[in-house]
Amino acid sequence: MRAVVLEQQGAPLRAVNLPDPAPGPGQLLLRVGACAVCRTDLHLRDHEIEATKLPVVLGHQIVGLTEDGRRVGVPWLGWTDGDCRYCRSDRENLCEHARFTGREIDGGFAELTVADERFCLPLPDELSDEQAAPLLCGGLIGYRALRLAGDGQRLGLYGFGSAAHMICQVAVYQGRTVFAFTRPNDERTQQFARTLGASWAGGSNDAPPEPMDAAIIFAPAGELVPEALSCLAPGGSVVCAGIHMSDIPSFAYELLWHERTVRSVANLTRRDGEEFLALASKVPVRTTVTTYPLEQTEQALADLRAGRFEGTAVVVP
Ligand SMILES: [Zn+2]
Ligand SMILES: [Zn+2]
Repeated sequence: MRAVVLEQQGAPLRAVNLPDPAPGPGQLLLRVGACAVCRTDLHLRDHEIEATKLPVVLGHQIVGLTEDGRRVGVPWLGWTDGDCRYCRSDRENLCEHARFTGREIDGGFAELTVADERFCLPLPDELSDEQAAPLLCGGLIGYRALRLAGDGQRLGLYGFGSAAHMICQVAVYQGRTVFAFTRPNDERTQQFARTLGASWAGGSNDAPPEPMDAAIIFAPAGELVPEALSCLAPGGSVVCAGIHMSDIPSFAYELLWHERTVRSVANLTRRDGEEFLALASKVPVRTTVTTYPLEQTEQALADLRAGRFEGTAVVVP
Protein backbone atom coordinates (compact mmCIF):
# COMPACT_ATOMS: atom_id res chain seq x y z
CA MET A 1 0.00 0.00 0.00
CA ARG A 2 0.98 3.63 -0.36
CA ALA A 3 1.57 5.39 2.95
CA VAL A 4 3.24 8.47 4.37
CA VAL A 5 5.52 7.80 7.32
CA LEU A 6 7.29 9.79 10.00
CA GLU A 7 10.75 8.20 10.19
CA GLN A 8 12.46 10.81 12.31
CA GLN A 9 10.92 13.58 14.40
CA GLY A 10 11.74 17.05 13.12
CA ALA A 11 12.11 15.80 9.54
CA PRO A 12 9.55 15.76 6.70
CA LEU A 13 7.12 12.87 6.30
CA ARG A 14 8.06 10.49 3.49
CA ALA A 15 5.82 8.76 0.93
CA VAL A 16 6.66 5.05 0.82
CA ASN A 17 5.21 1.68 -0.13
CA LEU A 18 4.53 -0.61 2.83
CA PRO A 19 3.23 -4.17 3.04
CA ASP A 20 -0.56 -4.22 3.46
CA PRO A 21 -1.38 -4.38 7.20
CA ALA A 22 -2.89 -7.64 8.47
CA PRO A 23 -5.72 -7.35 11.02
CA GLY A 24 -5.09 -9.11 14.33
CA PRO A 25 -7.82 -10.64 16.51
CA GLY A 26 -10.68 -8.16 17.00
CA GLN A 27 -9.25 -5.74 14.44
CA LEU A 28 -10.86 -4.48 11.25
CA LEU A 29 -8.96 -3.99 8.01
CA LEU A 30 -10.04 -0.61 6.66
CA ARG A 31 -9.65 1.10 3.31
CA VAL A 32 -9.07 4.74 4.25
CA GLY A 33 -11.56 7.12 2.63
CA ALA A 34 -10.25 10.23 4.39
CA CYS A 35 -8.05 11.11 7.35
CA ALA A 36 -8.19 14.58 8.87
CA VAL A 37 -5.06 16.33 10.14
CA CYS A 38 -4.86 17.22 13.85
CA ARG A 39 -2.42 19.54 15.58
CA THR A 40 -1.16 16.47 17.47
CA ASP A 41 0.14 15.11 14.14
CA LEU A 42 2.06 18.36 13.74
CA HIS A 43 3.40 18.19 17.34
CA LEU A 44 4.71 14.67 16.61
CA ARG A 45 6.18 15.77 13.26
CA ASP A 46 7.84 18.81 14.85
CA HIS A 47 9.05 16.88 17.94
CA GLU A 48 7.05 18.96 20.40
CA ILE A 49 5.78 15.72 21.91
CA GLU A 50 7.64 12.40 21.91
CA ALA A 51 6.92 9.66 19.40
CA THR A 52 6.71 6.24 21.03
CA LYS A 53 7.31 4.27 17.83
CA LEU A 54 9.27 5.12 14.69
CA PRO A 55 8.67 4.89 11.86
CA VAL A 56 5.00 5.57 12.36
CA VAL A 57 2.04 6.32 10.12
CA LEU A 58 0.42 9.41 11.68
CA GLY A 59 -3.26 10.30 11.40
CA HIS A 60 -6.02 9.57 13.92
CA GLN A 61 -9.22 10.96 12.41
CA ILE A 62 -9.87 8.13 10.00
CA VAL A 63 -12.97 7.38 7.98
CA GLY A 64 -12.60 3.85 6.65
CA LEU A 65 -14.56 1.15 4.89
CA THR A 66 -14.51 -2.40 6.22
CA GLU A 67 -14.06 -5.39 3.92
CA ASP A 68 -17.84 -5.96 4.09
CA GLY A 69 -18.63 -2.34 3.19
CA ARG A 70 -19.41 -0.74 6.58
CA ARG A 71 -18.19 2.82 7.14
CA VAL A 72 -16.57 3.51 10.54
CA GLY A 73 -14.59 6.26 12.24
CA VAL A 74 -11.29 5.61 14.00
CA PRO A 75 -10.38 8.14 16.71
CA TRP A 76 -7.21 8.85 18.73
CA LEU A 77 -8.07 6.37 21.52
CA GLY A 78 -7.11 3.10 19.84
CA TRP A 79 -6.91 0.61 22.70
CA THR A 80 -7.22 0.46 26.50
CA ASP A 81 -6.53 -2.34 28.98
CA GLY A 82 -10.09 -2.12 30.36
CA ASP A 83 -8.71 -3.02 33.75
CA CYS A 84 -6.78 -0.16 35.37
CA ARG A 85 -8.23 2.16 38.03
CA TYR A 86 -9.17 4.70 35.34
CA CYS A 87 -10.85 2.22 33.01
CA ARG A 88 -12.80 0.80 35.96
CA SER A 89 -14.01 4.28 36.98
CA ASP A 90 -15.37 5.41 33.60
CA ARG A 91 -12.21 7.39 32.74
CA GLU A 92 -10.71 5.29 29.97
CA ASN A 93 -9.30 8.50 28.47
CA LEU A 94 -6.70 8.31 31.27
CA CYS A 95 -5.99 4.55 30.92
CA GLU A 96 -2.51 3.75 32.20
CA HIS A 97 -1.77 1.52 29.21
CA ALA A 98 -3.74 3.32 26.50
CA ARG A 99 -2.52 2.99 22.92
CA PHE A 100 -3.26 5.83 20.55
CA THR A 101 -3.98 5.77 16.83
CA GLY A 102 -1.19 7.38 14.81
CA ARG A 103 1.27 7.12 17.71
CA GLU A 104 1.46 3.60 19.20
CA ILE A 105 -0.70 2.18 16.39
CA ASP A 106 -0.11 3.06 12.71
CA GLY A 107 -2.76 5.57 11.64
CA GLY A 108 -4.60 6.81 8.61
CA PHE A 109 -2.19 8.62 6.29
CA ALA A 110 -2.17 5.46 4.17
CA GLU A 111 -4.40 3.54 1.78
CA LEU A 112 -5.14 0.86 4.39
CA THR A 113 -5.12 0.64 8.17
CA VAL A 114 -6.25 -1.72 10.91
CA ALA A 115 -8.22 -0.74 14.02
CA ASP A 116 -9.67 -2.48 17.08
CA GLU A 117 -13.37 -2.81 16.29
CA ARG A 118 -14.37 -1.94 19.90
CA PHE A 119 -12.89 1.55 19.49
CA CYS A 120 -14.39 2.32 16.07
CA LEU A 121 -17.29 4.78 16.03
CA PRO A 122 -20.45 4.97 13.93
CA LEU A 123 -20.60 8.02 11.62
CA PRO A 124 -23.53 10.19 10.52
CA ASP A 125 -24.69 8.99 7.06
CA GLU A 126 -25.34 12.49 5.77
CA LEU A 127 -21.67 13.53 5.81
CA SER A 128 -19.13 12.59 3.15
CA ASP A 129 -15.86 10.97 4.23
CA GLU A 130 -14.05 14.32 3.95
CA GLN A 131 -16.75 16.13 5.95
CA ALA A 132 -16.94 13.46 8.67
CA ALA A 133 -13.21 12.98 9.34
CA PRO A 134 -12.68 16.25 11.29
CA LEU A 135 -15.36 15.23 13.79
CA LEU A 136 -13.17 12.37 15.02
CA CYS A 137 -10.65 14.37 17.04
CA GLY A 138 -11.14 18.10 16.72
CA GLY A 139 -14.88 17.54 17.08
CA LEU A 140 -15.04 15.04 19.86
CA ILE A 141 -12.14 16.16 22.02
CA GLY A 142 -13.45 19.68 21.48
CA TYR A 143 -16.81 18.40 22.72
CA ARG A 144 -15.21 16.88 25.82
CA ALA A 145 -13.56 20.26 26.49
CA LEU A 146 -16.92 22.00 26.05
CA ARG A 147 -18.58 19.61 28.50
CA LEU A 148 -15.83 20.13 31.08
CA ALA A 149 -16.07 23.90 30.60
CA GLY A 150 -19.49 23.72 32.31
CA ASP A 151 -22.85 25.19 31.42
CA GLY A 152 -21.86 28.86 31.38
CA GLN A 153 -23.61 31.12 28.93
CA ARG A 154 -20.66 33.16 27.66
CA LEU A 155 -17.94 31.02 26.10
CA GLY A 156 -14.57 32.11 24.69
CA LEU A 157 -12.70 29.99 22.10
CA TYR A 158 -8.98 30.74 21.77
CA GLY A 159 -7.46 29.48 18.52
CA PHE A 160 -10.17 29.29 15.89
CA GLY A 161 -9.00 26.26 13.93
CA SER A 162 -10.34 22.78 13.34
CA ALA A 163 -11.81 22.06 16.78
CA ALA A 164 -13.17 25.57 17.43
CA HIS A 165 -14.95 25.82 14.08
CA MET A 166 -17.03 22.77 15.05
CA ILE A 167 -17.44 23.53 18.76
CA CYS A 168 -18.62 27.06 17.95
CA GLN A 169 -21.57 25.54 16.06
CA VAL A 170 -22.40 23.19 18.95
CA ALA A 171 -22.21 25.99 21.52
CA VAL A 172 -24.46 28.27 19.43
CA TYR A 173 -26.91 25.37 19.03
CA GLN A 174 -26.92 25.04 22.84
CA GLY A 175 -27.91 28.71 23.06
CA ARG A 176 -24.57 30.02 24.28
CA THR A 177 -22.89 33.28 23.32
CA VAL A 178 -19.53 32.62 21.66
CA PHE A 179 -16.54 34.94 21.58
CA ALA A 180 -13.82 33.87 19.12
CA PHE A 181 -10.18 34.79 19.68
CA THR A 182 -7.65 34.52 16.83
CA ARG A 183 -4.08 35.63 16.27
CA PRO A 184 -4.08 39.46 16.43
CA ASN A 185 -5.11 41.03 13.10
CA ASP A 186 -6.26 37.73 11.57
CA GLU A 187 -9.35 39.36 10.05
CA ARG A 188 -10.00 36.43 7.73
CA THR A 189 -10.39 33.94 10.60
CA GLN A 190 -12.40 36.43 12.65
CA GLN A 191 -14.82 36.78 9.74
CA PHE A 192 -14.96 32.97 9.42
CA ALA A 193 -15.89 32.73 13.13
CA ARG A 194 -18.72 35.23 12.70
CA THR A 195 -20.15 33.21 9.80
CA LEU A 196 -20.32 30.21 12.17
CA GLY A 197 -22.32 32.11 14.78
CA ALA A 198 -19.73 33.77 17.00
CA SER A 199 -21.28 36.98 18.32
CA TRP A 200 -17.88 38.67 18.65
CA ALA A 201 -14.46 37.91 17.17
CA GLY A 202 -11.16 39.60 17.89
CA GLY A 203 -7.47 39.13 18.59
CA SER A 204 -6.25 37.01 21.50
CA ASN A 205 -5.10 40.15 23.34
CA ASP A 206 -8.42 41.96 22.90
CA ALA A 207 -11.01 42.11 25.68
CA PRO A 208 -14.37 40.49 24.86
CA PRO A 209 -17.51 42.68 25.12
CA GLU A 210 -18.35 41.13 28.52
CA PRO A 211 -16.67 38.79 31.03
CA MET A 212 -16.85 35.11 30.07
CA ASP A 213 -18.08 32.12 32.09
CA ALA A 214 -15.64 29.76 30.40
CA ALA A 215 -12.85 29.73 27.87
CA ILE A 216 -11.42 26.82 25.89
CA ILE A 217 -7.85 27.22 24.67
CA PHE A 218 -7.16 25.23 21.50
CA ALA A 219 -4.01 27.14 20.51
CA PRO A 220 -0.74 25.66 21.91
CA ALA A 221 0.28 28.99 23.46
CA GLY A 222 0.70 29.07 27.26
CA GLU A 223 0.53 32.88 27.41
CA LEU A 224 -3.17 32.57 26.55
CA VAL A 225 -3.91 31.06 29.98
CA PRO A 226 -3.44 34.28 32.01
CA GLU A 227 -4.91 36.20 29.05
CA ALA A 228 -8.10 34.10 29.21
CA LEU A 229 -8.22 34.18 33.03
CA SER A 230 -8.17 37.97 32.93
CA CYS A 231 -11.39 37.90 30.86
CA LEU A 232 -13.30 35.41 33.09
CA ALA A 233 -16.19 36.16 35.41
CA PRO A 234 -15.92 34.83 39.01
CA GLY A 235 -16.43 31.06 39.11
CA GLY A 236 -15.35 30.69 35.48
CA SER A 237 -13.10 28.02 33.98
CA VAL A 238 -10.23 27.96 31.52
CA VAL A 239 -9.94 24.59 29.77
CA CYS A 240 -6.72 23.77 27.91
CA ALA A 241 -7.70 21.31 25.19
CA GLY A 242 -4.39 20.51 23.48
CA ILE A 243 -1.85 17.76 24.11
CA HIS A 244 0.99 20.30 24.14
CA MET A 245 1.31 23.94 25.12
CA SER A 246 4.26 26.27 25.56
CA ASP A 247 5.06 27.20 29.17
CA ILE A 248 2.42 29.16 31.04
CA PRO A 249 3.88 32.44 32.33
CA SER A 250 3.47 33.21 36.02
CA PHE A 251 0.51 35.39 36.87
CA ALA A 252 -1.00 37.21 39.82
CA TYR A 253 -3.12 35.08 42.15
CA GLU A 254 -5.82 37.68 41.74
CA LEU A 255 -6.53 36.25 38.26
CA LEU A 256 -7.41 32.86 39.81
CA TRP A 257 -9.16 34.24 42.88
CA HIS A 258 -12.97 34.02 43.12
CA GLU A 259 -13.07 30.31 42.34
CA ARG A 260 -11.76 30.50 38.82
CA THR A 261 -10.37 27.18 37.54
CA VAL A 262 -7.65 26.17 35.09
CA ARG A 263 -7.68 22.57 33.84
CA SER A 264 -6.61 20.40 30.93
CA VAL A 265 -8.56 17.86 28.89
CA ALA A 266 -6.84 14.66 27.81
CA ASN A 267 -7.93 12.26 25.06
CA LEU A 268 -11.49 10.94 24.83
CA THR A 269 -13.71 8.15 25.99
CA ARG A 270 -15.83 6.11 23.61
CA ARG A 271 -18.85 7.64 25.28
CA ASP A 272 -17.63 11.15 24.33
CA GLY A 273 -17.45 9.88 20.75
CA GLU A 274 -20.95 8.42 20.70
CA GLU A 275 -22.51 11.48 22.38
CA PHE A 276 -20.75 13.98 20.17
CA LEU A 277 -21.46 12.19 16.89
CA ALA A 278 -25.17 11.97 17.75
CA LEU A 279 -25.20 15.67 18.66
CA ALA A 280 -23.24 16.62 15.52
CA SER A 281 -26.05 15.15 13.39
CA LYS A 282 -28.68 17.15 15.28
CA VAL A 283 -26.92 20.54 15.16
CA PRO A 284 -25.94 19.73 12.32
CA VAL A 285 -22.22 20.48 12.47
CA ARG A 286 -20.86 21.56 9.07
CA THR A 287 -17.13 21.19 8.58
CA THR A 288 -14.98 23.43 6.40
CA VAL A 289 -12.25 21.30 4.85
CA THR A 290 -9.25 21.66 2.56
CA THR A 291 -8.30 18.34 0.95
CA TYR A 292 -4.83 17.07 0.08
CA PRO A 293 -3.75 13.92 -1.76
CA LEU A 294 -1.76 11.42 0.34
CA GLU A 295 1.59 12.48 -1.12
CA GLN A 296 0.88 16.08 0.00
CA THR A 297 0.45 15.24 3.72
CA GLU A 298 3.67 17.07 4.61
CA GLN A 299 2.27 20.15 2.82
CA ALA A 300 -0.96 19.84 4.81
CA LEU A 301 1.08 19.91 8.04
CA ALA A 302 3.07 22.92 6.79
CA ASP A 303 -0.15 24.75 5.96
CA LEU A 304 -1.54 23.97 9.43
CA ARG A 305 1.67 25.27 11.05
CA ALA A 306 1.40 28.49 9.03
CA GLY A 307 -2.38 28.91 9.49
CA ARG A 308 -2.98 28.92 5.72
CA PHE A 309 -6.50 27.48 5.68
CA GLU A 310 -9.76 27.81 7.68
CA GLY A 311 -11.26 24.74 9.32
CA THR A 312 -9.57 21.38 8.86
CA ALA A 313 -7.04 19.81 6.46
CA VAL A 314 -8.14 16.38 5.25
CA VAL A 315 -5.93 13.85 3.48
CA VAL A 316 -7.68 11.75 0.86
CA PRO A 317 -5.54 8.72 -0.12
ZN1 LIG B 1 -6.13 14.82 17.50
ZN1 LIG C 1 -6.99 1.23 31.61
